[in-house]
Amino acid sequence: MPVNNQTVIELAKKYGFDLIGFAEAKVLDKEIERLTEWLDRGYHARMSYMQRNLNKRKDIKEILSFARSVISLGMNYYSPEKHSEDKAKGKVSRYAWGKDYHFVIWEKLDKIIDHLKQKEPSFEAISYIDTGPVMDKAWAVRSGLGWMGKHTNVINKEIGSWFFIANMITNWEFEYSDPLEDFCGSCTACIDACPTNAIVNEYVLDSNKCISYLTIENKKNIPEEFKGQFENWIFGCDICQDVCPWNLKFSKATSIKEFYPEKGNKELQLDEIFSLTKKEFDKRFAVSPIKRAKLSGLKRNAEFLLAKNGC
Ligand code: SF4
Ligand code: SF4
Repeated sequence: MPVNNQTVIELAKKYGFDLIGFAEAKVLDKEIERLTEWLDRGYHARMSYMQRNLNKRKDIKEILSFARSVISLGMNYYSPEKHSEDKAKGKVSRYAWGKDYHFVIWEKLDKIIDHLKQKEPSFEAISYIDTGPVMDKAWAVRSGLGWMGKHTNVINKEIGSWFFIANMITNWEFEYSDPLEDFCGSCTACIDACPTNAIVNEYVLDSNKCISYLTIENKKNIPEEFKGQFENWIFGCDICQDVCPWNLKFSKATSIKEFYPEKGNKELQLDEIFSLTKKEFDKRFAVSPIKRAKLSGLKRNAEFLLAKNGC
């Protein structure tokens, strides 16, 4: 059987992907214009890596010279559980409740590529999951997985926005998907609900103000101006996605058991974080996305929340 849309769709579904789309490997001209404006405004905060390799972000042929298509894949990670409102606990963003998605998805992508190469030995692909100079959300939109919501996450009409995005750059030609319309309409629920006003304009997020950035990527102290605004988030923040009507109506439970909460990782007991040793932290979060914050980051976040709570 040749490699075509249908073979890729069947394989991707077999390995648990919920969304599959195909885009031609064209230059991301409008997207790079918006990214450059966003960078010029300093909205990337201290994530200086975002300024690098703009030529590769714009034209993936700078990564793989013979690229002809991008296959975008979405994997639902929604598990139908809620956070505790116990103030002695810090909330963890939903994507980090279970096993690190990189481990889960890499393995599946490797298998898919192996299968496709068996069918067609000249098939080549290189995969990215929010790493490297690939504009993952832009490709997901071009491949028709969903539209870019005003909170800057990609939303799909059938499953909402709780999904991971992976992209495969390939040397193969496919029939290409049509990008979807924007169904945000006049809704502003995400903008209204953001406690730090990080969505500074529709479709524009200022990372300097976003709890997700401030609790994970940020290596400095959390600015005092945000005291009392974190609503007990210790690792990431889901508020703008929690209030989105597309998630409220269409979220479905994932079939991937690794994304269900590991015991004790949906919320973290704040006072326990201070007594964690580096060895305990490394062991406990070895395969969890929470390790990205490092023990020092988690302690800083816990201190920040406890100072606000007056505990
Ligand atoms: S993740 Fe939280 S802080 Fe960041 S934009 Fe969404 S609601 Fe605001
Ligand atoms: S909350 Fe409303 S405006 Fe925000 S992303 Fe969802 S639909 Fe769009």
